[in-house]
Amino acid sequence: MKDTNLLKKLSSRLDELSKLPKLDDKKSIAKIVDQKGFSRRDFMKWAGAMTAMLMLPASFTPVVARAAELSDRLPIIWLHMAECTGCSESLLRTDAPTIDSLIFDYISLEYHETLMAAAGWQAEENLEHAIEKYKNRYILMVEGAIPSGEENFYLTIGAHGQTGEASAKKASENAAAIFAIGTCSAFGGVQAANPNPTNSQPLSKVTNKTVINVPGCPPSEKNIVGTLLHFILYGTLPALDAYNRPKWAYGLRIHDLCERRGHFDAGEFVENFGDEGAKKGYCLYKVGCKGPYTFNNCSKNKFNQHMSWPIQAGHGCIGCSEPDFWDTMGPFEEPVADKLYNTVFGGAGADATADKIGVGILTATAVGIAAHAVISKVKNPQEDEEH
Ligand code: SF4
Ligand code: SF4
Repeated sequence: MKDTNLLKKLSSRLDELSKLPKLDDKKSIAKIVDQKGFSRRDFMKWAGAMTAMLMLPASFTPVVARAAELSDRLPIIWLHMAECTGCSESLLRTDAPTIDSLIFDYISLEYHETLMAAAGWQAEENLEHAIEKYKNRYILMVEGAIPSGEENFYLTIGAHGQTGEASAKKASENAAAIFAIGTCSAFGGVQAANPNPTNSQPLSKVTNKTVINVPGCPPSEKNIVGTLLHFILYGTLPALDAYNRPKWAYGLRIHDLCERRGHFDAGEFVENFGDEGAKKGYCLYKVGCKGPYTFNNCSKNKFNQHMSWPIQAGHGCIGCSEPDFWDTMGPFEEPVADKLYNTVFGGAGADATADKIGVGILTATAVGIAAHAVISKVKNPQEDEEH
């Protein structure tokens, strides 16, 4: 679609949204941003970065800023299943709030167990009320895996002792869009790791509606807010990969944009944490980095206001945004490709030289990329229309 046509389409979607009532009249994004010490210029700079992240041209920045301003028109119901609340905590409890976290102050979180004051009967009533009142309008965000063990009571919530599975199913039925926030909700996470005693499942297994997966342990706040903004802008699903992850966020491997990649290609590796290679910032592959197997945008966006990220801090990626990473990516401080190399590539011995590891892993990753590319061809109907 040509830029001008797309701009018109997005603008008219926002015009429609702007006719909906504000869910909280007292709040304005300008006020919230100002109260937290950000200028309008900071806000527009943030909107520019989000525009680039969503793979839109820079000229769309005002439209993305407007989408953020209209984010209070869509009510959000956020359910907690079996999890550690780390996804919510990382987004909402930063000591120096980012504009991404301020968007979460601004949107209308109609139900969020960690944040709301209500408890017990009243909390249940609030949930039922929100589902009914905003039928087919609300965005459902679910954090955590869904236990569905034999007795089905590994997770019960609220005064009626409703199972998590029943609660997630019910809330999914009338949602306008469903986001699985974090690896537990997207893929089962640590709850579903072998031997998975509670038979924990991803959200997508308990509803037959499409679930957009935003994995990560936790996912970056930019990926959560970007998924929300994408829905506000388009009103449709983003282009998704084979694991239902938005391609704009999870389309590339950590390895593709890693700042240590030059060292990988040159065969310069950290052999042990704290050695000379570590001091020189060499590649962390030999101490377990799973960046070559992991699709996410951490190497591009980093964390904490773009300050740093795990690989910059000196530890390899553990593959947290991939399905079953607890079972398949461990041990976290050993290179997984050695096993692949020994089994798949004829047992040549991956540790013989750094060069060989480079060759081995490149071959292994090429296979991985090819597989990813093939499965990613399962087309999302909106993809052609949107991009
Ligand atoms: S293996 Fe890890 S540290 Fe090395 S270049 Fe790839 S992503 Fe970066
Ligand atoms: S660098 Fe790897 S382990 Fe760390 S958050 Fe990103 S995907 Fe997860």
